[in-house]
Amino acid sequence: MPWVAGWATCSAGVDVATAQASAVQDLIDVFGRLPGIGPKSAQRIAYHLLKADAEESRRLAAAVVAAKERVGFCSRCFNLSETEICALCTDERRDTHVLCVVEEPRDVIAVERTREYKGRYHVLGGAIDHLQGVGPEQLKIRELLARVDAENITEVIICTNPNLEGEATALYLGRVLSVPGLTVSRIASGLPVGGDLEYADELTLGRALEGRRTVDHPAPAD
Ligand SMILES: [Zn+2]
Repeated sequence: MPWVAGWATCSAGVDVATAQASAVQDLIDVFGRLPGIGPKSAQRIAYHLLKADAEESRRLAAAVVAAKERVGFCSRCFNLSETEICALCTDERRDTHVLCVVEEPRDVIAVERTREYKGRYHVLGGAIDHLQGVGPEQLKIRELLARVDAENITEVIICTNPNLEGEATALYLGRVLSVPGLTVSRIASGLPVGGDLEYADELTLGRALEGRRTVDHPAPAD
């Protein structure tokens, strides 16, 4: 019986991957490549799906495909959107002259949860990280400068993460946004340094927004 033989070789110290059907291993590998999922969690999710009824895995697969097909980026603020321009950009009740600059679409949700902010957003698509080869030109900074000009923006609130990359991005933005008549502010400290905006609780992030400070415009580097 191959099943028994499998157990025998496994206990003899054979590679775990060979003891698992290759389709199971493929599934674990796929989940293991997702952010925040370690090898153990990947295995747990794969085993859960294999044990659950077929409908559950069909729903999961269909949801992934549908989201990927339907959701794109808002052509104005680069938040996730199912339409050309997202609902936040078209909401007339929001202040059209204030922009909150964040790194990722998930940060928009974090700021929205505070209920402290009623302006619009601009999603950079990341932060300056020279070690990873991410410079200003890889981010939506050119688009931000164009919006500040075209949409008569009077205040830009820089809401990048309170870590090295987020601070480097905030410094860079403070420099390039040195435009007469434009107030540039940075959310106040009080957020855990090195952390992510999305993990800050609503109250802390709300206070950080309220206590934002105007960024001094340093002289150009050269
Ligand atoms: Zn938008």
